Amino acid sequence: MAPSFLSVLTGSFATPAAENPTVAMVEAAYRHHGLDARYINCDVAPDRLADAVCGAMAMGWAGFNCSLPHKVAVIPHLDELDESAQLIGAVNCAVRRGDRWLGTNTDGQGFVASLRTVVEPTGASVVLFGAGGAARAIAVESALAGAAHITVVNRSAARGGELVSLIRDRTPASAELAVWDHRYVVPAGTEIVVNATSIGLFPDVDARLEIEPQSIGPGMVVADVIPNPPRTGLLRDAEQRGATVLDGLGMLVSQGVIGIRHWTGIDADAGVMRQTLERLFVA
Ligand code: NDP
Repeated sequence: MAPSFLSVLTGSFATPAAENPTVAMVEAAYRHHGLDARYINCDVAPDRLADAVCGAMAMGWAGFNCSLPHKVAVIPHLDELDESAQLIGAVNCAVRRGDRWLGTNTDGQGFVASLRTVVEPTGASVVLFGAGGAARAIAVESALAGAAHITVVNRSAARGGELVSLIRDRTPASAELAVWDHRYVVPAGTEIVVNATSIGLFPDVDARLEIEPQSIGPGMVVADVIPNPPRTGLLRDAEQRGATVLDGLGMLVSQGVIGIRHWTGIDADAGVMRQTLERLFVA
């Protein structure tokens, strides 16, 4: 067979983009599996997003990730959204189907895949801090995966209330809002606690959530979305109190695995991807 010098092209559109480690993680998987594929990290300004999406189609890209600030803005430039993206109202992964772009959202699916390595969400009572993009994705997918009740704890009542309505109206789970204007006491009986705010993200590594520490204990799973540093203050405290902890690298790797499956059909080795990120981030 004649050699092919044409690689499968994938990548990311975001701005800023220089600190996004996804390229290292995805290309490590491509190399590990011997795929002739590339992941190009692109800094795309908001007013050039439409051009970037058209350009990717013109150049035959298999798909791309969208990160901030494009996750909602990209939607009018796509042809179709799957159920996750429709419910969440944001797209972080586009997949080429012939000459059409399908938009999906792998953030919440990645979170649930990571969660399932330690606990099944079925019937669980969840406390979720935050109501931004990551929290919406996590809430929707956790509810679709069977979580019974989600308490959204958020500083802004308006944003928190919108997420509660979304969960109640569009998923089988029940939901309530706790406005986060005081030290929050995690209710007894909570099985899963999730930080989906940006508190603890590098360089603000010592920032802590306003939580009553005594309310976290054994029998709870405490998960953080923060990938860098992987061991946040929340996880260190929770581990000391006997909880099972889950870091944000698991979610990042799992959503990468789902994206690679969409674009190449390969089930990528999550261990190789995680080790690449661990080498990049200060543990
Ligand atoms: P958004 O800006 O959409 O939402 C941020 C949320 O954090 C809001 O609910 C906001 O509350 C809350 N928040 C921020 N600072 C504070 C504070 N000091 N006190 C209380 N609440 C606060 O961000 P995203 O949802 O897109 O991202 C959140 C985090 O998730 C980021 O750090 C990102 O790195 C991480 N992430 C990780 C992924 C992974 O794969 N591991 C994937 C996607 C995101 P309010 O509404 O009151 O402003």
